[in-house]
Amino acid sequence: MRRGRFAPTPSGHMHLGNAKIALLSWLEMRAAGGIFMIRIEDIDIQRSRPEITECILEDLRWLGLDWDEGPGADDDSGPYWQSQRLDYYKEALSRLQDTGRLYPCYCSRAELLAVAGAPHGLSSEGAPYPGTCRGLSPAEQTERAARKTPSLRFAMGTEPVRFHDGIAGPQTFPPGSGGDFVVRRADGLYSYQLAVTVDDALMGITDVLRGGDLLDSTPRQLELYAALGFKPPAFTHAPLLLGEDGRRLAKRHGDLGITSLRAAGSKPEAVIGWLAYISGLIDRFEPLTAQELIPCFSLDRVSKQNFILHPEILNQLISLQ
Ligand code: GLU
Repeated sequence: MRRGRFAPTPSGHMHLGNAKIALLSWLEMRAAGGIFMIRIEDIDIQRSRPEITECILEDLRWLGLDWDEGPGADDDSGPYWQSQRLDYYKEALSRLQDTGRLYPCYCSRAELLAVAGAPHGLSSEGAPYPGTCRGLSPAEQTERAARKTPSLRFAMGTEPVRFHDGIAGPQTFPPGSGGDFVVRRADGLYSYQLAVTVDDALMGITDVLRGGDLLDSTPRQLELYAALGFKPPAFTHAPLLLGEDGRRLAKRHGDLGITSLRAAGSKPEAVIGWLAYISGLIDRFEPLTAQELIPCFSLDRVSKQNFILHPEILNQLISLQ
C-alpha cells in the first residue's frame, strides 16, 4: 500500500504555501487509497514550539485534511515527533560511519559564510561546501579537535544523481551536487537531511510530495538512501507560492497564516477551492471541500508554475462565503 506524509516544521505557523503542499500530498494518497501520515519535524528543538504544532494540527483539521497515522492517530510506525526519534538517527549515523563516507568538519561559521556568495548553492541550504576538511590527515584532525568540536559531513559520491520527479519530470544533478553536507552538527543536533531520510525510510513512505524548494536536497537524500541500504520513495516537488517580490512566502509577506485566515472569517472551502485552482486541479476558483477534489486529482494536472500571491486574494478568501 502507498504511504505519503506531510512533515511540517513547527517553528512557524502554517501559511497558504504549506497548506498547498498538505492538500496535494493528502490528495495524492486519498486518490490512491493509500495511507496519509503527519510527522512533526521538530528535530531543531530550540526553534520548535509545541503550541505551533497544535495550531498546525488544528489548521489541518479545519481544512478537512485528516490523517491515518500521526499525532492523535494510529501510532504503529511512530513516534511521529522527530525529537522522540533520536535513537534511530544515532543508529543510522553509526552505520554511515562504517561506510567511511563521514568526516569531521572543523570549519567555523565565519569560514562557511565566506563561501556563501559562491554560486550553485542549494536553494534550501546555501552555498556548496568546498570540501575544506575532507582531506585532513589524522594528525590535522587531532590538532583541530583540540580547539573545536567538529560537525560531521557526508561525502557526496562521484556519479551524477538522476531521478524522475512526479511534477518536475526527469532530473539530473552533477556529481557532488550541493557539496558534502552536515549530518550531525557540532552541537550534536542531527541534520534535516539525515532525519528526513531515516524517517521516510523507517516509516515506509513510498511517496514524498513536498515544496519545490527541496528539489535540490533530493540528490543528498538519495545518496543517503543508497549508503544506508534503503529503498528510496518516489519524489514529487510541487511549485511554490511566492510573495509579490518573487520570494518564497514568509512572515515578511504579511498575514498569510491559515490560523489568521480562520480568525478573519475565511471558510475552509474557500481556501481549499483557491488552492486547488492555483494548483491547476480546477478551472476556476470555486469553494470546494478537500473530499470533493479527490476524483479530479492527478499529478499530471498539477501546474508546474510557481504562483505569485497578490494581497487582494486574501480579501477574496475572507469575503467568499
Ligand atoms: N519539514 C520540512 C518543511 O517544513 C519538510 C521536509 C520534507 O517534506 O522533506 O519544510
